[in-house]
Amino acid sequence: MIVVMKRGFQRAELEDVIALIEEKGARPMISHAEHSTLVGVIDKTPGEKHGVSPDALSSLPGVEKIVPIEEPYKLVGRPLHPEDTVICIEPENGVRFQAGGGYFGVIAGPCAVESEEQIVETARAVRLAGGTALRGGAFKPRTSPYSFQGLKEEGLKMLAAARRETGLAVVTEVLCVNQVDLTAEYADVLQIGSRNMQNYPLLEAVGRQSNPVLLKRGLCSTLSEFLLAAEYIAYQGNPNIILCERGVRTFEDDTRFTLSLSSIPILQKKSHLPVIVDPSHSTGCDYLIAPMSRAAMAAGADGLMIEAHPHPSQSRVDAEQAIDCGAFAALMDDLRRLAPAAGKRWSE
Ligand code: PEP
Ligand code: MN
Repeated sequence: MIVVMKRGFQRAELEDVIALIEEKGARPMISHAEHSTLVGVIDKTPGEKHGVSPDALSSLPGVEKIVPIEEPYKLVGRPLHPEDTVICIEPENGVRFQAGGGYFGVIAGPCAVESEEQIVETARAVRLAGGTALRGGAFKPRTSPYSFQGLKEEGLKMLAAARRETGLAVVTEVLCVNQVDLTAEYADVLQIGSRNMQNYPLLEAVGRQSNPVLLKRGLCSTLSEFLLAAEYIAYQGNPNIILCERGVRTFEDDTRFTLSLSSIPILQKKSHLPVIVDPSHSTGCDYLIAPMSRAAMAAGADGLMIEAHPHPSQSRVDAEQAIDCGAFAALMDDLRRLAPAAGKRWSE
């Protein structure tokens, strides 16, 4: 439930509300909206019902009303946090990445880090074209155990070199709990891939560290399951989550997955978290990246994550869906033209 405080409430009244919530075994979550202050009553111990009574809360001075939260995801839902969360990353002397609240963040780079030369060359092109963050997998989740699995820590070092060179924030995937601390030393954003969206210990581990998390939708997950996965991260204390729609599995076989564009406004209605779109994995096809990127922006997305490679045909992973740096720059020009009509702006 949510406690809505009266306009002009006294500080001591809010403290009494918090004290009652804590005394009855729940966790208070304060949220400041434009015209009101809200206090969420969140279960402290999973599986154990707290003893906070709505009547006891509503009789306290300074309390306007009590509103139940219908949805199972409390922290990432809109009711407790009506305003958009803006994820903002500013590498030292670098390029500011922002997504949410009208800002459009563009993350681009190869599927996998292959060499320092490849990742630095891509990062330079991404920066020049106006991209605001660099992607590249060092730990790769591959369907076949015989496929290239990524350069691991060496790849992380190459990503850090590309950040030093260009000032772009680095987004990279973690596959398991024991990669989290190591990866957080090198990267700005930890990505949880589609296959791991329901890996709950991993969600909890990224929730316990402070880097923002890019959470990709599971390839067979509903939006409700997606938001509950984000709730796992937020419940551990990390509210900085970017949701990424990356397509779901359907009967269609002309595309790798089916990009659900309607999920953008649905997620934005249900949650305050920024929603970005990955047109690369959702289509699996280079010529669909530009039209789906424009469609995502027009549908209100808060950003994109695109696979770009200096020489797509030589890409060791996902070659058929990577665009070259020239095509990426042309797409960025298009998006910049479209942005005002879509009500979006870039960080800088
Ligand atoms: C990726 O972005 O590198 C990736 C593996 O994507 P997904 O988890 O969406 O398949
Ligand atoms: Mn890929």
